[in-house]
Amino acid sequence: MPDRPNAHLVARMQGHRLSIFAEMSTLAVETGAINLGQGFPDTDGPAEVTAAAIQAIRDGFNQYPPDRGIPELRRAVADHQARFYGQQVDPGDVMVSTGASEAIGAAIMALVEPGQEVVVFEPYFDLYAAVIELAGGVRRAVTLRTPDYSFDLDELEAVINPSTRLILVNTPHNPTGKVFSEAELAAIARLAITHDLLVVTDEVYEHMTYDGTRHIPLATLPGMAERTVTISSGGKSFGLTGWKVGWAHGPTELVNAVHTVKQHLSFTSGAPFQRAMVTALNLGDGYFTGLADDLCAKRDLVADGLRSVGLHVLPAQGTYYVTADVAPLGYDDGMDFCRDLPGRCGVVAIPNRVFYDDESSGRSIVRFAYCKQFEVLHEAVERLSRLTA
Ligand SMILES: *Cc1c(COP(=O)(O)O)cnc(C)c1O
Repeated sequence: MPDRPNAHLVARMQGHRLSIFAEMSTLAVETGAINLGQGFPDTDGPAEVTAAAIQAIRDGFNQYPPDRGIPELRRAVADHQARFYGQQVDPGDVMVSTGASEAIGAAIMALVEPGQEVVVFEPYFDLYAAVIELAGGVRRAVTLRTPDYSFDLDELEAVINPSTRLILVNTPHNPTGKVFSEAELAAIARLAITHDLLVVTDEVYEHMTYDGTRHIPLATLPGMAERTVTISSGGKSFGLTGWKVGWAHGPTELVNAVHTVKQHLSFTSGAPFQRAMVTALNLGDGYFTGLADDLCAKRDLVADGLRSVGLHVLPAQGTYYVTADVAPLGYDDGMDFCRDLPGRCGVVAIPNRVFYDDESSGRSIVRFAYCKQFEVLHEAVERLSRLTA
């Protein structure tokens, strides 16, 4: 996709002009390829949830909701944390946002002074880099290394210095599909406590873990509740990515800080969707186990397909994504592979190299999203088999 003329953009955003998701989704539309690039489902969320939104509009919930979100949703988020994680959250310490994205942006802008450092794990969700830069912060990346996407604790410890303000942790992790283990989270917690750092977590894939792994909110580890802002949203959990209802919670003073910025960004949003999200968060356990079972089967389908054409599939225990090394097909650059893929077989994927500061680490790794209907995935796997023809 050609870059658009953009000379007036502030210098610190010049490096963030192109979103790989926009580029690859445009390529998918132009070529008619199956889009396994951007992570959005191709079906609607639960019928009772979409019906609740329609009902809320009919019932007249169409004006500005309260700036921290409607009380029913703040209570539902607190109940959800107690139900799934045994975590005690005061509904007064829950803030509703325009998707997790806004909460992440507001948290970084509220908590990081210009020049302070933010530790992220790479490959990282591209929004992190942009909002850290907007805040005037400095990104310090610790690499999740193949073959298992583990990180080196010494490397993490080495990037922490007196300018470090916070650690941003995304688990289950996009783009790798990694679910951070309890031992890894405990190690991060120990460093955060020792160096008195804040932590912001992005847990939007919290209900998508497979193979017996489970999601552990970092805030539930000893000593972490008082220093952690926990962020999630309903977009991924309920297959409603277009609704953009998110939330953040944590200790009162941290949430107050995040809210101070948030109120000057969107102030508030999505009154009828906030109401419907109460219905969503209170769905029975069957919904949540069904979601994970469905996505796990889809991961297996796509991973097997990738393996059968000779790609080296990397482990993924969560999220919507599986990654693979395309070097066995003769590509040392995943970007070249992704640009060729629609023409070669009618599929779009995302090159992970754009999510690294150290591009050499993820140069030949490509991400495939499998949050699509089975027949679409079967067709995609069929098309991918042309790679070996
Ligand atoms: C999709 C996604 C988000 C954005 O969530 P919204 O609720 O749509 O704003 C945030 N973080 C990660 C890692 C994501 O994949």
